[in-house]
Amino acid sequence: MSAIDTLPPLRDVITAHGLSARKSLGQNFLLDLNLTAKIARMAGNIETADVLEIGPGPGGLTRGLLAEGARRVLAVEKDARCIPALEEIAQAYPGRLEIINGDALEIDPAAQLTQPIKVAANLPYNVGTELLVRWLTPDTWPPFWQSLTLMFQREVAERIVAQPGSKAYGRLAVLAQWRASAQIVLHLPPGAFTPPPKVSSAVVHLEALAAPRFPAEPKVLERVVARAFNQRRKMLRAALKGMAPDIEDRLVASGIKPTDRAETVGLEQFCALARTLA
Ligand code: SAM
Repeated sequence: MSAIDTLPPLRDVITAHGLSARKSLGQNFLLDLNLTAKIARMAGNIETADVLEIGPGPGGLTRGLLAEGARRVLAVEKDARCIPALEEIAQAYPGRLEIINGDALEIDPAAQLTQPIKVAANLPYNVGTELLVRWLTPDTWPPFWQSLTLMFQREVAERIVAQPGSKAYGRLAVLAQWRASAQIVLHLPPGAFTPPPKVSSAVVHLEALAAPRFPAEPKVLERVVARAFNQRRKMLRAALKGMAPDIEDRLVASGIKPTDRAETVGLEQFCALARTLA
């Protein structure tokens, strides 16, 4: 494990600041700085971008991002115990790291960043999914972010990149792939983290498209997809009953058989259906 900067190894930082991992905050830390630098490189060209990092913890990924040349990092961490450790990193990279002690679900730091903006995070899985959905469903597109490089539980990562016909295909895949490209770029075993979680993880990289792949009204598409997958075993004519009295005709007009189930319907057809219902 070679050093990527002149700061102490993360194990020493954790001991010095008493950062014993708290389950309630989903704390599974990455201590291998070569690995965090590798994840930082997966975010793409960060030298000319501001990076919003959510959940920096003791700062492994933060150090990776800064060592890889991020123009500026804004880090939002809920656990106040981590702030002094992060301040030491800020001192080592003058003017390039700002820290906010707060809950990422309650604050919106986008206004404090300068375009282009990239997001990088290794978050507790429930918080990560909630934030991903928010980032994918803003009122206007393109969103504030150019790319998202996010660690997820492997199953969730597979749901984001899933294709029609697979078990993992659902609302998350449609929302992610409609207006972004999404790829799994790294798989990590539980042992990569301290303490190790129960499940494997994966890093997903999403790039915002300039425009949606197919036209549709965002709110209508979200509603259709939520309904369709809420009852994914039902035929669509039953699952979407109530959205329109002539739902069968609208399904047919969108190239969907009324007897199809949501998991076989592609993005283009869901968008066509959303247009007929708009
Ligand atoms: N990024 C560090 C790493 O890779 O070692 C820490 C990862 S740990 C899985 C998740 C981090 O997110 C913890 O530091 C935790 O305190 C923080 N966190 C949890 N919920 C949060 C929230 N709602 N807002 C901001 N940070 C949060």
